[in-house]
Amino acid sequence: MRLYTYNVRGAVWIILYLFFVLAPLFALLTGSLPPPRDFWTEFSAAIGYAGLAMMGLQFGLTARFRYVTEPWGEDVIYHFHRQISLVAVGLVLAHPLILFAARPELVALLNSFRAPWRARFAALSVYSLIALVVMTLGRAKLKIRYETWHLTHILLAIIAVTAGLLHMLGWGFYLADTRKRALWIGLTVFWIGLLLYVRIAKPLFMLRRPYRISEVRKERGDTSTLVMQPNGHPGFRFRPGQFAWLTVWGSPFKITAHPFSFSSSAAVTDGRVEMTIRNLGDFTSEIHKVPVGKRVYLDGPYGAFTIGNPADMHVLIAGGIGITPMMSMIRTLADRGDKRPAVLFYGSKDWESIIFREELDALKERLNLTLIHVLEQPPAGWTGEKGFINAEVFKRHLPPPYADHEYFICGPDVMMDAIEKALGELDVPLWQYHSERYNFV
Ligand SMILES: Cc1cc2nc3c(=O)[nH]c(=O)nc-3n(C[C@H](O)[C@H](O)[C@H](O)COP(=O)(O)OP(=O)(O)OC[C@H]3O[C@@H](n4cnc5c(N)ncnc54)[C@H](O)[C@@H]3O)c2cc1C
Repeated sequence: MRLYTYNVRGAVWIILYLFFVLAPLFALLTGSLPPPRDFWTEFSAAIGYAGLAMMGLQFGLTARFRYVTEPWGEDVIYHFHRQISLVAVGLVLAHPLILFAARPELVALLNSFRAPWRARFAALSVYSLIALVVMTLGRAKLKIRYETWHLTHILLAIIAVTAGLLHMLGWGFYLADTRKRALWIGLTVFWIGLLLYVRIAKPLFMLRRPYRISEVRKERGDTSTLVMQPNGHPGFRFRPGQFAWLTVWGSPFKITAHPFSFSSSAAVTDGRVEMTIRNLGDFTSEIHKVPVGKRVYLDGPYGAFTIGNPADMHVLIAGGIGITPMMSMIRTLADRGDKRPAVLFYGSKDWESIIFREELDALKERLNLTLIHVLEQPPAGWTGEKGFINAEVFKRHLPPPYADHEYFICGPDVMMDAIEKALGELDVPLWQYHSERYNFV
């Protein structure tokens, strides 16, 4: 039933998306029209308008509207945001290029010292977009800090869209008509409004619903668990496998929230949530120092990576810190007394770094859980699985037909790519497996 509702909701959102991209474009063709121009000029104007409408809608895609993202999951939305942004930027860049090819005299507008304001705004919009794309695609190579990139990304996006609109208004042509002008100004106000919603309205809401750290637990594998209790409110319910954005240092208005899966049971009723965090960078390396009693903020729950009703068994496949959503699923199954079979394939570096090792062993008593550790560097005398999780490991431990099980995968990218390939080799259809990637931003 939930899948059906999600499919319908997903279809409605896709139609709405197309409407928001195409309607402003077609609206230009209604009412009083300016004198016709040659085909290429009109074509380049059309793709410029469509590109700008798509750019504006990016603010909606990243606004973390749970109702919008739920049918797909946040990672799919961010992936779409990345891909569709490239299409939008392509359209915006093609707009002047086609114009210059069709009417070479317009190249003179590139001289921003002499060009009119409307052309300067166009240049500003295009240069901001180019900087935005270069910084995004080259973030790792250019070694740009995530926080610096994120702030710059938002600023460049606002500049690109606002300058694009000012260019359109300055040029007039289709927008000489007051109603069409009002429509495009209204749209831009709406897009910027979405951004303000994420950056001001949502943080205000979170400010009134803080959490307190009640425990910081050291775990195996350079990892710590933060136990958080809602402070003065009942908290929220989440589904096992979902995640939230966590702000520890400073207020929710700072753009420094980090995404983490819940590792605790979703069956807990007092609002308590836990996140288990591996020391990987500047933020995560400070987690073990968070003092008990500290006020923190959570924006969530998000994500579609969650257990449903599998035909026969849940197959959970985790690599390293990818165990956190699986742990939430297993703890929840145990708390609910769910005795359906579950198999956990758990890849770790070595025996000592297996996060939750002892608890998983204990949980086997309360569940129909088969636990298969796969160690990259096994200790002497190890008789279990060695190396990496692959199709051969699945064949040794899973009963066929493999396509009947429901699979959940979370771990490093290389591992997830290899596992998705292995499942393909076992003829497991796409809709039977779910993946959560930790580097979607
Ligand atoms: C849905 C999801 C669930 C996750 N769950 C867990 C979990 O349960 N446990 C865990 O240890 N890790 C989890 N992560 C990964 C975790 O968010 C990053 O390791 C952490 O944000 C890195 O921050 P840093 O400043 O310490 O590292 P850095 O070295 O600054 O960043 C390393 C990489 O992490 C990503 N990143 C950094 N800051 C942010 C941010 N503010 N927002 C988004 N991405 C960022 C970037 O891709 C960056 O290149 C999850 C990630 C996602 C997307």
